[in-house]
Amino acid sequence: MSDPFLRGPSGIGGGAVDEVLALAFATSALLNAVLAVLAWRRRSATPAATALATAFASLALWSATGVPLNFPVSPPVHAALTYGSFVGILGSVVSLYLLSRVVADPHYRPPRGQVVHLAVVPLLVLAVAATDPWHHLVLTRVTPIPQAPWFEVRWGPLFWVHTLWCYALLTSAFARLLHAWWRGSGPVRRQVGLLLLAGLVCTAGNVVVISDPEVFSGRDLTPLSFTLTALIDAYAVLRVGLLRVVPIARAAVLENVRDAIVVVDAGGTVVDVNAAGRAYLRTRYPDLPVDPVGLPAARFLTARALGDLPGGYLSYELEHASGLHLDVQVTALRDRRGRDLGRVVVGRDVTEVAQLRAQLAEEAVRDPLTGLHNRRHFDTAAAQLLRCAAATGDPVGVLAVDIDHFKRVNDTHGHAVGDLVLVEVARVLAAAERRGDLVARTGGEEFVLLLPGADEEALAVRAEQVRAACAALDVPVAAGTRVRPTVSVGCAVLPHHGADLTGVLAAADRALYAAKAGGRDRVVVATAPPTAPVEEPRTTPAP
Ligand code: GH3
Ligand code: MG
Ligand code: MG
Repeated sequence: MSDPFLRGPSGIGGGAVDEVLALAFATSALLNAVLAVLAWRRRSATPAATALATAFASLALWSATGVPLNFPVSPPVHAALTYGSFVGILGSVVSLYLLSRVVADPHYRPPRGQVVHLAVVPLLVLAVAATDPWHHLVLTRVTPIPQAPWFEVRWGPLFWVHTLWCYALLTSAFARLLHAWWRGSGPVRRQVGLLLLAGLVCTAGNVVVISDPEVFSGRDLTPLSFTLTALIDAYAVLRVGLLRVVPIARAAVLENVRDAIVVVDAGGTVVDVNAAGRAYLRTRYPDLPVDPVGLPAARFLTARALGDLPGGYLSYELEHASGLHLDVQVTALRDRRGRDLGRVVVGRDVTEVAQLRAQLAEEAVRDPLTGLHNRRHFDTAAAQLLRCAAATGDPVGVLAVDIDHFKRVNDTHGHAVGDLVLVEVARVLAAAERRGDLVARTGGEEFVLLLPGADEEALAVRAEQVRAACAALDVPVAAGTRVRPTVSVGCAVLPHHGADLTGVLAAADRALYAAKAGGRDRVVVATAPPTAPVEEPRTTPAP
């Protein structure tokens, strides 16, 4: 790591140069301190902010200790500043390492063993450096140089051990950031890229200094590169939303959306499941392990979700026997070179939407007053019913039902009572409905029943049952007032009375008209359609 103690014979420096350098160090300290405060304030918003804040604070400290070192100081002050910079060095390395871990995995919290490891080495180095005579292991000799404010410094073996340790941590951190940058996309990629650049700039500054102590005439100018680091990070914070959108935020979005999200790798293994996904799996597949990551996705995803993805996308609706409706969207994941990385499966609970849709569809085919099917449904369902009957050759009975003198009910008791009577008659008709039948309110007080399989005889029996049941109605409509409705019924059989729906309905209507004309509250079966009169052969009288 850097060697801020290194003070060789002054080749540069002296006078104005020292003051300019001191100013540069102070600027770096100030910039990093401001960034540290900004990041610290955002620490509750993103776990990366804490590591960023300590990294900036450490760089600020390191830079600040460099300010007075540009001027002549006494050996004890020199030693105090040296230890201060040591804290800055170790703090920035450990923070950068932790930052890289959090960027790679937002849920990362250092395990206890790691905390001990990350704390023990810095504390040990600082303790040894501060203890007489052990400090020789870190700092072997500090010799004042005549006519120069610098000291000649000889490092002990522990300094080089700690330098190696620092560089091992930095290498691991940069490898992680590089991986996160490579795999990332959008703002995350830009943010991680800038973090990486900022980290590399200050590390490069240190590498230059440490690899050739004489390069700047023995001065440690590492903190000057922190100014550049701070400027890059400031750009990242102000222009790329480093502390707003931070990589972590994206992961948090994935974790917190209410849709169940399962990420599957190219080999069909589950690599990530968000909280909603885990909750869904817990209730539907209680036998699965608590953490489904690492399982073959086929254990809970359908062959459809794991099958071919033409165009890289698939969307469908899944209905479970439990009544749960899922809107499933499968999207292929590819890297920038188009290689298959797997797929992300998103499941949204649309049970309520599906129920609402079914309810609306049902309401569209029902008459709101009586609950019977309406005319629109009758037209489509009747065509379907007749097609089936035609296929089997079965007859279809038709009953045309009309309430007698219904206008009088309205006129005498009011429209509301008329409605009540309609509902009661409809209830009788619905009760008469058997499996396969079609009952509909086709007009104001007119109803049609299609009874597949009913021949003329059976139809007459069912018609009489309907008529009698309606005649038995006794509807209380006001205190002491009751309405006893009756109906007239016209019957016709397809194909006997009509060749198609229009024909047989017309025959049933004619029979209904006959029932009305015959006195109402009765059943009339249609007569066979009149056959064309056979023309007598014309005979020519004999002359
Ligand atoms: P008929 O015995 O010849 O069938 O005589 P009717 O009075 O039943 O027949 P008409 O066609 O003259 O009258 C039917 C009445 O039904 C007229 C209309 O106001 C009433 N009506 C139609 N739809 C409704 C409804 O939804 N509610 C109520 N209360 N009345 C309705
Ligand atoms: Mg009528
Ligand atoms: Mg009527």
